[in-house]
Amino acid sequence: MVVVAAAKSHRSAPSLACDTAGMPCRYFEPLQLVPIPFHRSARLPLIDEYDGICHAGPEAAPVPAESRFGGCNHGNRNNQCGRFPAAAESVALRFTVQRESPEALEILAIEELDHRPVRWQAVQFMFGSEELRPERTDFCQRAQLLAFCRSYLTKAGGHSGYQKNHV
Ligand code: SF4
Repeated sequence: MVVVAAAKSHRSAPSLACDTAGMPCRYFEPLQLVPIPFHRSARLPLIDEYDGICHAGPEAAPVPAESRFGGCNHGNRNNQCGRFPAAAESVALRFTVQRESPEALEILAIEELDHRPVRWQAVQFMFGSEELRPERTDFCQRAQLLAFCRSYLTKAGGHSGYQKNHV
């Protein structure tokens, strides 16, 4: 579930906050928006439905279309994608928008293990460069953060300092 509500902002007009209850699969690297979403009005952890690459197993591969919505984007482990390792820990990232400054969107990235928070970090998404500060080394987490921020800003009506440059 995604909750969208009024948020703290440096902007004069109210902006949106987005607090996701679900989390994408830990092995999912979202790369581009799905042209025709499975459910057009679905609430998703990355806000929009994304296509991308699965990094479970020794070989990265395009995510299976039949698992993309329920498994990769929604993180539903009951989804039988056939790629999620049976012994893997149930670790995933949850994102919450904290605030917007004139330069950046600030996200709280919460790492959960078996649905309990174990680590968290404030991350800034810079409007001009789409840089993350601090940068993430895990490229699935990095791609999920970027996807979330881009979709959030698009859904929130954009920001004067942000130029949308993804598909
Ligand atoms: S195919 Fe399965 S393991 Fe891979 S990203 Fe999607 S849900 Fe996760």
